[in-house]
Amino acid sequence: MTQTAAPTATATQAGQPASDARMRVGVMTGPGAIEIREVPVPRPGVNEVLVRVRATAICTWEQRSYSGQQSNKFPFIGGHEIAGEVVELGPGVSDEITVGQAVTIGSAACGQCHWCRSGRDRMCPQHYRGSVAYDDAWGPGGFAEYKVHPASGIYPIPGDASWEAISLAEPLSCALHAVAQLDVRVADDAVVLGAGVMGLMNVVALKKHGARVIVSEIDPDRLAKARELGADITIDATSEDPIARVRELTQGRGAEHVIVAIGSGKANEQAMAMLADRGRLVLFASAHPMTPLEIDPNEMHNRETGVIGSLSSEQADFQAAARLIGLGQVDLRPLIQRSFPLTDLAAALDASVEPGTYRMIVTP
Ligand SMILES: [Zn+2]
Ligand SMILES: [Zn+2]
Repeated sequence: MTQTAAPTATATQAGQPASDARMRVGVMTGPGAIEIREVPVPRPGVNEVLVRVRATAICTWEQRSYSGQQSNKFPFIGGHEIAGEVVELGPGVSDEITVGQAVTIGSAACGQCHWCRSGRDRMCPQHYRGSVAYDDAWGPGGFAEYKVHPASGIYPIPGDASWEAISLAEPLSCALHAVAQLDVRVADDAVVLGAGVMGLMNVVALKKHGARVIVSEIDPDRLAKARELGADITIDATSEDPIARVRELTQGRGAEHVIVAIGSGKANEQAMAMLADRGRLVLFASAHPMTPLEIDPNEMHNRETGVIGSLSSEQADFQAAARLIGLGQVDLRPLIQRSFPLTDLAAALDASVEPGTYRMIVTP
């Protein structure tokens, strides 16, 4: 594991690339196929920012596209968990963003639509506006040396976290978004099903909200990792019945909050069965193939339970993730496995789809 310190705003002499500068981009031309291409460095337009990418973590979307588990449109330029340094500002960008700043790249928002004005900018039509297009290739564009992004989706990092840690702001923000949809009160019982990286991010987010966190998982190494990241109780689902164990731990009530962080019909059913009265179940992971989940509307009515979906995150979640990481309020180092140069993107993706691994990071 290599960790390099991100610069503070004042310590950096960020270089603006020459007008004819070119950059390397890692392009997925199909499942299992990576090409390193050269394209012109994009330039920032009105209200846009050019970022020199320093670290991009590989997430489930890129892994599933690479392994062929999830269909995608190719050629695809993955990489949406991005840390970098501001090198050029387009016209109209506010003074809050300055050249040399360490930033993470994330959710954009127009600030003017119904969703933005009612504080739910996750649903803003501009949410994914940072997507890039170089010739016939498209995608979030983090597997590249530079990226242009709307200023509304640029989040300055306070403090001096490593580039690798900053690249984990996006997955942390997604977990914070899921938890923000729940009414978590101090000492509530919260269960996370599945302790992959995203399950573990939810453990971190729930702990910050003061819950007692119970994790159910079948892999003993991941259970140990969950304890390292703050889980209070772990359940080995290969030897214990998670539903019975959660009921036992909660005097039969079940858990007020259950987050399913693994795409599994069986886990969704378990979650439903361990929900306390007034409990909320968050469907955090998509399942491929999808299995329908049966609900009993009368039971849900009587017990005032609920099921919520959660995908991506919004500005407030990103702002919180940037602060938690930058100010050292969370330690995500146990989730960082290894860094690779952009030229080794294929090796990084090969490593990331190995079972039992944590975040692989590309440093363009
Ligand atoms: Zn992600
Ligand atoms: Zn909007």
